[in-house]
Amino acid sequence: MIAAHPDDENTALLAYLARGRKVRTGYLSITRGEGGQNLIGAEQGDALGVIRTQELLAARRIDGAQQFFTRAIDFGFTKTPEETLEKWGREKILGDVVWVIRRFRPDVIILRFSGTPRDGHGQHQVSAILGKDAFAAAADPKRFPEQLQWVQPWQATRMMWNPGAFTKEQREEVEKMPNRISVDPGDYDPVLGHSYNEIAGMSRSMHRSQGMGAAERKGSAKDFLITQAGPVAAKDIFDGIDISWNRVPGGAAVGNVLAEAARSFDAEHPDRIVPLLLKAQNAMVALHQPLPAGKQKELSDAIALCAGLWLDATADKYAVTPGGALKFDATALNRDHLAVQVKSIEIDGIAPATTKDKFGDVLPFNEPKVFTLTATVPEHQALSQPYWLVEPKQGDTYTIPNQLDVGLAENPPLFNAHFHLRIESEDVEVVRPVEYRYIERAQGELTRPVVVEPPVSLQWSKPAMLFPQGAAKTAELQVRANIPKAAGEVRIQPPAGWRASATSEKFQLADSGEQSVLSFQLTPPTGDAQGLLAASAKVGGQTVSTEMETINYPHIPPQVLYPPATAKLVRADVRLLPKTIGYVMGAGDEVPQALQQLGADVMLLSAGDLASGNLSRFDAIVTGVRAYNVRSDLRANQNRLLEYVKNGGTLLVQYNVAEGGNPFGGDTSLLANIGPYPITTGRDRVTVEEAPVQFLNPASPLLHQPNEITAHDFDGWIQERGLYFASKWDDHYQPLFETHDPGEKPQTGSTLYMRYGKGAYVFTALSWFRELPAGVPGAFRIFANLLSAGKT
Ligand SMILES: [Zn+2]
Repeated sequence: MIAAHPDDENTALLAYLARGRKVRTGYLSITRGEGGQNLIGAEQGDALGVIRTQELLAARRIDGAQQFFTRAIDFGFTKTPEETLEKWGREKILGDVVWVIRRFRPDVIILRFSGTPRDGHGQHQVSAILGKDAFAAAADPKRFPEQLQWVQPWQATRMMWNPGAFTKEQREEVEKMPNRISVDPGDYDPVLGHSYNEIAGMSRSMHRSQGMGAAERKGSAKDFLITQAGPVAAKDIFDGIDISWNRVPGGAAVGNVLAEAARSFDAEHPDRIVPLLLKAQNAMVALHQPLPAGKQKELSDAIALCAGLWLDATADKYAVTPGGALKFDATALNRDHLAVQVKSIEIDGIAPATTKDKFGDVLPFNEPKVFTLTATVPEHQALSQPYWLVEPKQGDTYTIPNQLDVGLAENPPLFNAHFHLRIESEDVEVVRPVEYRYIERAQGELTRPVVVEPPVSLQWSKPAMLFPQGAAKTAELQVRANIPKAAGEVRIQPPAGWRASATSEKFQLADSGEQSVLSFQLTPPTGDAQGLLAASAKVGGQTVSTEMETINYPHIPPQVLYPPATAKLVRADVRLLPKTIGYVMGAGDEVPQALQQLGADVMLLSAGDLASGNLSRFDAIVTGVRAYNVRSDLRANQNRLLEYVKNGGTLLVQYNVAEGGNPFGGDTSLLANIGPYPITTGRDRVTVEEAPVQFLNPASPLLHQPNEITAHDFDGWIQERGLYFASKWDDHYQPLFETHDPGEKPQTGSTLYMRYGKGAYVFTALSWFRELPAGVPGAFRIFANLLSAGKT
């Protein structure tokens, strides 16, 4: 199945194919969904892509499919396939789709989209356009010949379109399409105890950063598939395709043994078919040819399961530094009565592991046997950065030097334990990833991947530093030890024209986990300027120039990434009138830290503050992104906030999601009351970050005080202009700006302003949550004027 984003996939169809039909099923998401909004935290961009990657893997563990990606980056919403193909490079991403097809070798390719404007999002259209091209190109040895040193050309038999049919009109449209077959993921599976559609609901609910929690729907729910290329399927998706062992030359022998094993399987006594499975393993080897992907591993896993074996490999810590040592526990537990010996265990990806344990004894019944191994990680071992983030990006694609990494969902496990077993009289190899296993009191037993981390990690206290008045400011760099007795020297490199009080400083940390903060006084050049401040630390023979970001959510394993240790420095004249600002955090954003850079005191407002605190001490109050969606205490205290405005305060409301798009439920009708007079939140957005902006009311004080705003202040914005603009509003409001995507009708609902009582109210759905943390100077100047509205 091919589509563009995490959540585009038809999870029900994946579950039906993988769990119901038991065929190898894969989802190729062209992107990792980096450009969307994050509903569970403040991560954006690279970090959001890592979260969505893990959410897809969590979903696949439930529905049973595999996961693939290309190098393309989700650069945000776009309406046209042309913009998408231009940003990605058509040949580059087509090559990746072809590569994944040649490696996975599907019989049937299912497109989720049509490749026409019916699909909406330009990236959706492109997923189908490239999918159609790749169906033929993957089979053509003249296309992407450089791939053929690793893979063979592959002609899938059939390409089908699985159209989304969410409305009555769409369903009627689909039911009239020719060459259409149906499948029913609503079928109940008595072995699993669920229908595939119920499994789909569980799987889809892993997309938490998108608020995709889904019902586990019961009963019939048909899906339609329309043949697009290859022989038309009359009844079934695999019509005319042999999906048995007979397609492998000589494979019938294997198929017959496995069929006999399936027939004689007794769930109370699974060990009784182990001899047949061992026979099937020998028959596979006797074929003397490459086996269908994954079959050997499936069989050895099935043998271990039927033999009642539990095989597990853990490390004594979740992180190790280059040159550091690891202790591994490899556990074998025989919970059945077959004669099983562990002949040897190797750990790959590391210098040969040593052990004092003796191998070869028959495992005792139901008593864990632990083998302890130790090994040292090489001095030059690379850090465990997600492979697609190791090299700098090229525009809107990742740079992946090793072709064999292309398509992989995540880094393979750092280490694998290979258990060489003898079961009865046959040899079997079972491979297990080495993980770190731990107990979290609130959640129980958890595992996380083992990673390589640097001896120290660096962290600038602010990713972007604004110098609004030209005065010197202190930049703080946190140095954190990941090993005991970490000592060395930090060097910083300010951009040209900036002066630093010092460019190096020594540090000494006693314990792992200890940190110290080094301060550097920075003086900006005169006049507007921007640049990157870099830091590196020398510890022993190693140089560290990265920060370390750990992403931790309950639905995915902890993830670590290593962004460069740089901070953006911005010198721009920005004046702000309010001194104290209250902030009502919504779903999560980094606007408060950005506002502190303007010299304001920013305080996060709790439910108690909103209900009974003294609001009049704030010069301005700002609501965070989607705050009205996620905070019932904010909705409940709206009258107090309006009273605050009446008495002279300034209230600034950022975007909220309109009805139908409110993932948290809640009473969306209250969204009509986010201002003193009615405002209807719409779905309009402007996705082109360079889209021109007109000033609708050039005399408005918001454009002149305290900062003089010009068209240049809309230069250098990132990703988009804004989203969820107001679609309708009362005449009391004055729209400030007009901006729209190329070829679209003018939009004036991005920012609304009115005086109310002695104060001012501003609704603004421009993307401040992206622009301010990124240090876009014009965004700071405009936002400062909006915050100053009550005082101008
Ligand atoms: Zn999508």
